[in-house]
Amino acid sequence: MPVRYYDWIAHHARRTPAKTAMVDLGSNRRFTYAEFDARVGLLASHLRDVCGVGKGDRVAVLALNATDTLEVQFACFRVGAIFVPLNTRLTVPELQFIVGDAAPKVMIHDDDLADTAQSVSRLCGVATTLRYGATGSYEQAIAAAKPLATIEPVTLDDVSTIMYTSGTTGQPKGAMITHGMTFYNCVNLGGPAYITPSSVLLTVLPLFHTGGLNCYTNPVMHVGGTVLIMRAFDPGLALQLISDPARGINVFFGVPAIYQFMAQHPAFATADFSRLVIGGVGGAPMPVPLLHTWEARGVALQQGYGMTETSPAVLALDREDAGRKAGSAGKPVLHTEVRIVRPDGTDADVGELGELWVRGPNVTPGYWNRPDANRSSFTDGWLHTGDATRVDDEGFYYIVDRWKDMYISGGENVYPAEVENVLHQLSAVAEAAVIGIPDPQWGETGMAIIAVKPGHTLSEAEIHAHCQANLARFKCPRTVRFVDALPRNATGKIHKPTLRKSFATASAVDLVQQ
Ligand code: ATP
Ligand code: MG
Repeated sequence: MPVRYYDWIAHHARRTPAKTAMVDLGSNRRFTYAEFDARVGLLASHLRDVCGVGKGDRVAVLALNATDTLEVQFACFRVGAIFVPLNTRLTVPELQFIVGDAAPKVMIHDDDLADTAQSVSRLCGVATTLRYGATGSYEQAIAAAKPLATIEPVTLDDVSTIMYTSGTTGQPKGAMITHGMTFYNCVNLGGPAYITPSSVLLTVLPLFHTGGLNCYTNPVMHVGGTVLIMRAFDPGLALQLISDPARGINVFFGVPAIYQFMAQHPAFATADFSRLVIGGVGGAPMPVPLLHTWEARGVALQQGYGMTETSPAVLALDREDAGRKAGSAGKPVLHTEVRIVRPDGTDADVGELGELWVRGPNVTPGYWNRPDANRSSFTDGWLHTGDATRVDDEGFYYIVDRWKDMYISGGENVYPAEVENVLHQLSAVAEAAVIGIPDPQWGETGMAIIAVKPGHTLSEAEIHAHCQANLARFKCPRTVRFVDALPRNATGKIHKPTLRKSFATASAVDLVQQ
């Protein structure tokens, strides 16, 4: 018999009603578990009894980070509806594609995104919209609602969420996330991330991304800890909050760009990180020099690896190994199997590069409305991650790069992340990306695209000299371009398709004209 989903919030409201569940830093509101539970119940009853939302119906949210969005998530769970958080950085046509795909019955939004949400709702025929804010229809709905009489029975196999992937490599795909996947992620991450009822988490990543929602917001709520939600990432404010003893923040997670921006902030040198039990990092290749910058401030960042499709944790590095194995994403988390597979489908040897495949109860049953992607992404229940990976003789995994970003120069495979790591050793480098561009002699060669730190100088000759001293010849970028900042998606990941469009095509044209 399928295991039913148990409501964590109702549970903690019974056990620790007066404990602070969450703090909304944007609006300066604080909710105990009892208050949060009551609001979730009232919203759930409004969604079901007024908006007609039933089991399997979708409810979308388009908003900057707010605790209200977590209320929507748990209210959806109580009525068996599917929570669909939307990327706030997308344009109306991009959102129209996603909202058309998910077809929600209700769209909930904040003031900042009101115009976008209204346009998209109109274009996609969404029946009801609700607006956050003290005088918005969302608060009015909660104030007028009667407590929810009955909770819809749902099982761990039911879909709880459709989360769209970051769109780093193309169109975002809606990964179906079941209650079971989220539950297993809470269990799998809890240990390596030291999540306990005493955890006080500062969430800075967007809640529409698995990093914001599941690293570690949901795991901390699962055990009855406290979550502080920042409206949008601000490096100075993050450093100030982490340093403040009255806040007691002891858990933090970011993608590499978050740690880069914090390390570049003037307050980094004097910030107090002594209460941090964990600083987790993942979501994109983490430059090893940046790990050392944080280590020098006494923070051993723990790298992990995951995907939207695996809700997300697959690999995690333990604190004891963080220094010794800097650069590794760690070992598989509990209830997760991994393989490194050669192109012919056989298992790679220790040290040999292959594609990482994942299987387990934290892996998606598939993409929403994407039979093509579902066919090409799985073999016998194993999800193909698209990530080039190797394992060492102690069982530590190293994510080398996405297969799609690899390029071949003179017959040799080059993984841009390795070159980017070397570029980051130059202290003047703020951001670095490498892409393969067409070359008549070598097939492809590397182009380094660099943003220099304000107040620093760096010449092309210095970059070439540093690469030649540290990298095999075929890996050294042949060309260098300087930019003010690299294009990033909403999650903070470097958007290589944009770089290829701006630089690789232009260079191909240059070559043809030569
Ligand atoms: P899309 O699938 O739409 O192109 P995306 O893959 O960036 O976007 P996410 O699910 O947010 O969407 O990200 C998962 C990917 O992030 C992984 O497949 C991997 O490429 C990358 N990633 C995650 N953790 C790490 C890590 N520790 N090191 C290197 N890359 C990582
Ligand atoms: Mg992906």
